[in-house]
Amino acid sequence: MKFLMVGAGLSGAVIGRHLAEAGHEITVVDSRPHIGGNCYTERDADTGVMVHIYGPHIFHTDDAEVWDYVNGFETFLPYKNRVKTTSRDPQGELGVFSLPVNLHTINQFFRKTLRPDEARSFITEEQADTSIADPQTFEEQAMRFVGKDLYEAFFKGYTMKQWGCHPSELPASILKRLPVRFNYDDNYFFHKFQGMPESGYTAMIGKILDHPNITVKLETVFDRSEAGDYDHVFYSGPLDGWFDYELGRLGYRTLDFERFTYEGDYQGCAVMNYGEVDVPYTRITEHKHFTPWENHEGSVLYREFSRAAEPEDIPYYPIRQVEEKALLSDYVKLAEATSGVTFVGRLGTYRYLDMDVTIREALDTARGFVQCLETGEKAPAFFVAPL
Ligand SMILES: Cc1cc2nc3c(=O)[nH]c(=O)nc-3n(C[C@H](O)[C@H](O)[C@H](O)COP(=O)(O)OP(=O)(O)OC[C@H]3O[C@@H](n4cnc5c(N)ncnc54)[C@H](O)[C@@H]3O)c2cc1C
Repeated sequence: MKFLMVGAGLSGAVIGRHLAEAGHEITVVDSRPHIGGNCYTERDADTGVMVHIYGPHIFHTDDAEVWDYVNGFETFLPYKNRVKTTSRDPQGELGVFSLPVNLHTINQFFRKTLRPDEARSFITEEQADTSIADPQTFEEQAMRFVGKDLYEAFFKGYTMKQWGCHPSELPASILKRLPVRFNYDDNYFFHKFQGMPESGYTAMIGKILDHPNITVKLETVFDRSEAGDYDHVFYSGPLDGWFDYELGRLGYRTLDFERFTYEGDYQGCAVMNYGEVDVPYTRITEHKHFTPWENHEGSVLYREFSRAAEPEDIPYYPIRQVEEKALLSDYVKLAEATSGVTFVGRLGTYRYLDMDVTIREALDTARGFVQCLETGEKAPAFFVAPL
């Protein structure tokens, strides 16, 4: 059969590959001039640094099948994400601290030498605002968990810049657990498998798409009228875009990257956050630190700014607050009444998805679809419910 993948990102590539291996004829279209979607990496011509063009991407997962899957296409080398932040301490002095907030952060920030149990008592008994009995907002939850000083230095400014609103306007549910570690573990992720593709994500996705039954067409914008030329469409573009935004637009945050170069090592780490609200960017990424096995004299850096997405911007982070979820629910109803298309991936289901989850869902979708073909059942609009 003939199937169309709209989008040459991870979703389109993984589903396309699975169906190509099952003997079907796959066309993959992408409006961009390259494959890879937002995971796209490119070697900078001047410095030789592998640049994560749409923002830093670190692979991390507990899913052994997904880890084996990516390692089947590309060599992954060890990489641990160790983030730093520039913020002000309780005396108002600027300093560089370790993230996520851990025992090193606490001891440096409060100029103490606490051991784990002492630090836990200090935070929960002396810092946490226990007068807040039933936290309703992100701000109240953070104040309740860690108190004013840590909240203001590490959560408040960054959140305001990232989401464009005050933490008192965001729900408490965003901060589900105590966001502090009482040991010196500064590995950003807890996952068992973590690494970086040796030749970049573009090379990996290129290998996934490299199959005789797959044809890739770049700089090709999908037009809904073409759907009838295929037996089924897998659409990893924006859900509301499929319906020409007829009910309105689902809200996104977008990112602006201000690129600059440097001779040598600019900041000594891959990611430096900026916690203060009057520094307009959220973080600076120094891309060469993502490949510690390579040596480059020159350096490529991105200052990252977050703002509300306008229609012509790249949609990055779905907002998914009450208003957006109501609109999403209406689009889901429209989608479920449509046949011949399955909505997939981060844009098709309007959710933030890490790469491993994207691959897991893509594999499950492809397998579920093959089963539908075998049983003659109608393929659903969503194999994973967006709400
Ligand atoms: C800033 C940022 C940092 C991230 N960091 C990490 C990280 O560290 N670790 C991690 O695991 N995950 C990370 N992610 C998540 C990761 O980017 C996603 O998991 C992944 O990109 C999802 O793949 P996808 O194929 O669903 O979507 P995408 O990569 O967005 O691909 C969709 C593709 O569809 C194309 N398209 C859309 N509409 C049309 C149309 N009408 N016609 C033709 N083509 C169309 C687009 O051009 C795009 O190439 C990050 C995401 C962002 C935004």
